[in-house]
Amino acid sequence: MRSKQGSDTISQLDRTLPVRSCISCRKRANPAALIRVVLVDGRVIPDLKGGAAGRGAWLHKKCAEVAIARNAFRFAFKQDVAVDVSELLKFLEAQSN
Ligand SMILES: [Zn+2]
Repeated sequence: MRSKQGSDTISQLDRTLPVRSCISCRKRANPAALIRVVLVDGRVIPDLKGGAAGRGAWLHKKCAEVAIARNAFRFAFKQDVAVDVSELLKFLEAQSN
C-alpha cells in the first residue's frame, strides 16, 4: 500500500474505464454497455466497429425506442430538423430477431 500514489491510480482508472452518458436516460455507463451512433448526412447510423467519423452519441439498446420517440438524437446532434433513424431501426430489428 503506497497511499502517496493514490491519486495517480485514480487517474489511470479514469483512462482505462471511460464512461459515456446515454442520450436517452442520461445514465453513465461503460461504452461496452452502450451503442454508439454517428450522424451522417442527417441519418443516425449505428457505429458497430467504433471509431466512425462524425459526431457520435451513445445510448443503451433498450433506450433506443424511447430516444427515437423523444427525438433525443435531434437534440444530441444539435439538429434543427428531424433526423432519419431508419438505419438505426433496421439495426434494432435485426438485433431482436
Ligand atoms: Zn439509457
